[in-house]
Amino acid sequence: MGKKGILVDMHYCTGCHACEIACKQENGFGVGNWGIRINEIITEKPNSDRVHFDYLPYFTLQCNLCAERIASGEDTKPSCVKHCGTACMQYGEIEDLAKEMAAKPRAILYSPL
Ligand code: SF4
Ligand code: SF4
Repeated sequence: MGKKGILVDMHYCTGCHACEIACKQENGFGVGNWGIRINEIITEKPNSDRVHFDYLPYFTLQCNLCAERIASGEDTKPSCVKHCGTACMQYGEIEDLAKEMAAKPRAILYSPL
């Protein structure tokens, strides 16, 4: 079995924060502890009064890819992936995810040490 990871297709991330909450619930993280954070970046569009919102997921050192949840057989997916509001997160073998990533315009791939 190869190394596992999570692929996030940023193109479809709406910044709903469901992944953050699902992670906190799963791990019992208190105030200030997170497995994943969503950073909001607002950019002014050139020659326009409109702005563009980007949502950038960041996995912290607290994330272990829900090792206990997966090992127990409770689920085949980490909690954040299961509850993602737009299903833009995928869990799997890092090599498979890297191939998926190559076909996406904007994505991040995470795998812990
Ligand atoms: S994989 Fe599990 S521990 Fe990591 S961010 Fe997602 S819910 Fe949190
Ligand atoms: S749950 Fe999915 S859509 Fe919502 S902020 Fe997290 S990655 Fe983005």
